[in-house]
Amino acid sequence: MEALAIRGGVPVKSGPFGTGKRFGSEEAEQLLEALEQNTLFYHFGGKVKQFLNDFNEMYGVTYSVATSSGTAALHVAMGAAGVTVGDEVITSPITDQGTLVGILYQNAIPVFADLEPDTYNMDPRSIESRITERTKAIVVVHLTGNPCDMDPIMDLARRHNLKVIEDCAQAYLTRYKGRLVGTIGDYGCFSTNDFKHISTGDGGIVTVNSGEEADYHTAHAFADKNYRRFGTTVQRDLHAVAPNYRMTELQGAVGIAQLKKLEWICSSRTRTGDRITEGLSGHPGILPPRVDPGNVCTYWFYMLRLDGSQLTCTRDEFCEALLAEGIPNRAGYIPDVCYMQPIFQEKQAYPGSHFPFELSDATYERGLCPTAERILQTAVQIPISEFYSDQDVDDIVRAVRKVADFYLKRS
Ligand SMILES: *Cc1c(COP(=O)(O)O)cnc(C)c1O
Repeated sequence: MEALAIRGGVPVKSGPFGTGKRFGSEEAEQLLEALEQNTLFYHFGGKVKQFLNDFNEMYGVTYSVATSSGTAALHVAMGAAGVTVGDEVITSPITDQGTLVGILYQNAIPVFADLEPDTYNMDPRSIESRITERTKAIVVVHLTGNPCDMDPIMDLARRHNLKVIEDCAQAYLTRYKGRLVGTIGDYGCFSTNDFKHISTGDGGIVTVNSGEEADYHTAHAFADKNYRRFGTTVQRDLHAVAPNYRMTELQGAVGIAQLKKLEWICSSRTRTGDRITEGLSGHPGILPPRVDPGNVCTYWFYMLRLDGSQLTCTRDEFCEALLAEGIPNRAGYIPDVCYMQPIFQEKQAYPGSHFPFELSDATYERGLCPTAERILQTAVQIPISEFYSDQDVDDIVRAVRKVADFYLKRS
């Protein structure tokens, strides 16, 4: 057996990982053009409009709205979907907290459904068990860029008259049975923060999938203080509260250039992630993520699980040993399931108040979503990049197998 690097052996990874420039003259040219417009306001300039046109064309949708972040995109979708005071919204306990912000700002109550053990996505049977009279919407999170099982989820939503909002912040060009995620539910929400597949510094997009102009207008206004700016008219009648989540022309300009790179970025990540899974599948002690046939995962990161029954080490020991082999990694993703956050444990979203939690019977006790909790206790996250070479991928596979082999239980 090879000696682990952490015990003085030779590390698997000798050279550096592939890197590259995410921004170049393409972005600079667009930015200069934006400045030369003499306005950076989305409604007067052409950059945000062009960015959305390009995005709509790539996704085959008619309507989308630009926002200042992915969190904002999700809030806009809530507002447009009519999520309001006292509604329950079913979502995933393993996600970025940005998924939850818009729900609470609408004074609605997040309800958490459990996940599938190997896709880390919401289990349709658990979603169904969480539906009550108060349920208004489901926010599905396509975690790591792997699609949720949308057919049974859409079926549930139709039967119970619920809106479906797709959180696609980690899932650019992810496909479910051939269809792009973000176009399947009522709304699809994307983030262009600096850590996502493409970056505009910060920013987001909401697709409006009904294809109805009225729904588009509602979403558009909700991102702009409920100003209704269409054509040359501006309508300012205020019937309900809405935030200002406008994207600026600077972000739109960078977005135009970034979108041109998106297909390459995603196909490179898909190739890398799928190759890691191929190299690890069937290896004792290692449980790679499951991507169903016909689906495309675009791996915002790669996350496997350890099978503790087959290994003699703890997860932390595994992670440290893997790092010593030259492979950066992290134990799990978020430290714990979202419902263990103080905001839910204390049912206090606004200081000094238990509103809106007091309107609902939703609970947040340990054990609520046992599979999700187990995922976070056993997962190892390995960051990947579109710039990784085949050698980098082979080194990741070799290092994971080496560490697993070392700690394998032998009878
Ligand atoms: C990044 C992310 C968000 C929030 O996006 P921001 O642009 O940072 O507001 C929401 N949901 C998920 C799943 C994310 O990964």
